[in-house]
Amino acid sequence: MDLLKEVREISEVVRQSGNEGLYERLVSIRAEILDIQEKLFNNKKLIKELEEALALKQKLTFVEPAYYEMDKEGKPTGKPYCQTCFEGKGKAIHLVYRDNHDTDQGECEYWMCYTCEKGFMIPLGTPIRKYVPPEAPRIKPWQAT
Ligand SMILES: [Zn+2]
Repeated sequence: MDLLKEVREISEVVRQSGNEGLYERLVSIRAEILDIQEKLFNNKKLIKELEEALALKQKLTFVEPAYYEMDKEGKPTGKPYCQTCFEGKGKAIHLVYRDNHDTDQGECEYWMCYTCEKGFMIPLGTPIRKYVPPEAPRIKPWQAT
């Protein structure tokens, strides 16, 4: 049953009968129904957003300094996600690989978030090895021919 349509039809009958007091009350009820429908719509939208955020939170694991999806064995896999965007805004934003750097922590991959523009140095000891399989010898990009 379409409640709003039902009230609208009853309102029309009451209006034609000339009972203005009752008609005004029905108009007020119609406005209340519209308000409730809007709140219901917004709540459904919010629930969907929260369900998506929860599913994402359950899917990603923090392995400093970034978030990763886990494989079937519980090991981080795939490209890293931005820690700043995930924890600050609940958004899973992939980092983009830029290049490698030698640092005092050893060789690191430099990844960048194009949303918040934050850069991440990820030591090669961490689980992600996008460009080199673990068993293959590491070839620096500037050595490749
Ligand atoms: Zn970010």
